[in-house]
Amino acid sequence: MTEDRPVRVRMAPSPTGSFHLGSARTALFNWLYARHTGGKFLLRIEDTDQTRFVPESLDDIMESLRWLGLDWDEGVGVGGPHGPYFQSERLALYHEWADWLIKNGHAYRCYCTEERLAELRKVQMEHKQPIGYDRHCRYLSQAERAEREAGGRPSVIRFAMPLEGETGFVDLLRDARPVENRLIVDPVLLKSDGFPTYHLANVIDDHFMEITHILRGDEWLNSLPLHVNLYHAFGWEIPVYVHLPLILDPSGVGKLSKRKKKGDDGSEQLTYIWEYRKAGYLPEAMVNFLALIGWSYSAETDLFTREQAIAKFELRDINPSAGALPMSKLEWMNGIYMRTLAPADLAERLVPFVAEDLGLAPETVRAHPALAILTPAIQERLKTLADASELIDFAFKDKIEYDPQMLIAKGLDAVGSRLALEAAERRLAELPFSAEEMEQPMRDLADELRLKPGQLFGILRVATTGKNVAPPLFVSMLALGREATLARVRTAEGLLKGMAAQG
Ligand code: GLU
Repeated sequence: MTEDRPVRVRMAPSPTGSFHLGSARTALFNWLYARHTGGKFLLRIEDTDQTRFVPESLDDIMESLRWLGLDWDEGVGVGGPHGPYFQSERLALYHEWADWLIKNGHAYRCYCTEERLAELRKVQMEHKQPIGYDRHCRYLSQAERAEREAGGRPSVIRFAMPLEGETGFVDLLRDARPVENRLIVDPVLLKSDGFPTYHLANVIDDHFMEITHILRGDEWLNSLPLHVNLYHAFGWEIPVYVHLPLILDPSGVGKLSKRKKKGDDGSEQLTYIWEYRKAGYLPEAMVNFLALIGWSYSAETDLFTREQAIAKFELRDINPSAGALPMSKLEWMNGIYMRTLAPADLAERLVPFVAEDLGLAPETVRAHPALAILTPAIQERLKTLADASELIDFAFKDKIEYDPQMLIAKGLDAVGSRLALEAAERRLAELPFSAEEMEQPMRDLADELRLKPGQLFGILRVATTGKNVAPPLFVSMLALGREATLARVRTAEGLLKGMAAQG
């Protein structure tokens, strides 16, 4: 029985577009099961539909998997004993087995032209009959076949479905009513361009790659009776099937669509893994979040590490009904994961985001002392990696821009704010430049000036960072360094002077 063989599972994406959230969930469940059982996880590329092939999606699939940390043991990019792992490089195998099916009475060549099939469809529609092939070529005589072959007629190979009986579903998680075999009308297995259809290639590869369990999206559930019949025809052992539940959009109504939508909680729904990556989510949070779409870790907690998920992941715990998770939950989780990162790790992960937002080289950001100084100061506030730049950009820029009005503290005018700032400048010039040693003397200064610390610190915050909301003031100054801090303070004094003169 399959149950006794070492577990081998696979992700078999078609390179027709970017790697989708649903594909990532499928990959994750396969990976968790492989790691849980000590089995193997394969990556096979199902590139048999030449018309839908998008070359860039190959890199996107692999990058997305790597980013999520779902490493594969065999397949594209890593090799293995069952290659090649691109279906387009396995055509000879599909031909061989399609011919085998013909020889053994399970398949036949069909010479029907597009025109004939279109005409057939038209007539069926007019008579309100079920649409489908009429098995015309299944009953051609040897002579009729020979004649068509001699005339060089293009052909496809169709599966000769059993005309009687019914096929039940063999899914581990769900029962469905068996399907009458005669209703599955001889699907095409090999197209006239010599490429197999999904059904033929998928079944042959899963067999020869010794796949034991097939975890895939439930959009394939309808194909299951056909696949089961193909396995019967070949006389091969049928793997364990687990069709994973649909992912609903975050509002909980409707299928996750490829269009952007706002979830019920107002957050934007992202579709592709690269979008989540760019939006600054951590792979740790993504894996945790994805695992919860159709599976649960425990009644007590939704937060778990990937090692904990591996330890607990059982197929029978997958919930076959459609599930959704609101984006707000991912945001919440991401914040938690962000806070648990070591500051040096977080700083490193911020580098590409800050570099891109500020138009700097990653090495420049990495080497800048401000990164290490400011990261721990903002860690608590970040929901995503993308949130950092706007809080810390002031330290990476030569010049900051802001509305001079912001320099005027509540309850003061331009002159009062300038005088406070000048006093602060003098005091700062005398103080040791460390966050701890600056704070108390500056509070004392506020007292002396009969200001609230908030008023004085507010003016200084705008003068040094150009913002009302920024990391803690003295850490921000430290990140800038004494020279730049004092220079910005003097610039602000000049602006206030100009305003007082005008006003
Ligand atoms: N190529 C199919 C897809 O992209 C694979 C389905 C399967 O896992 O059997 O969804």
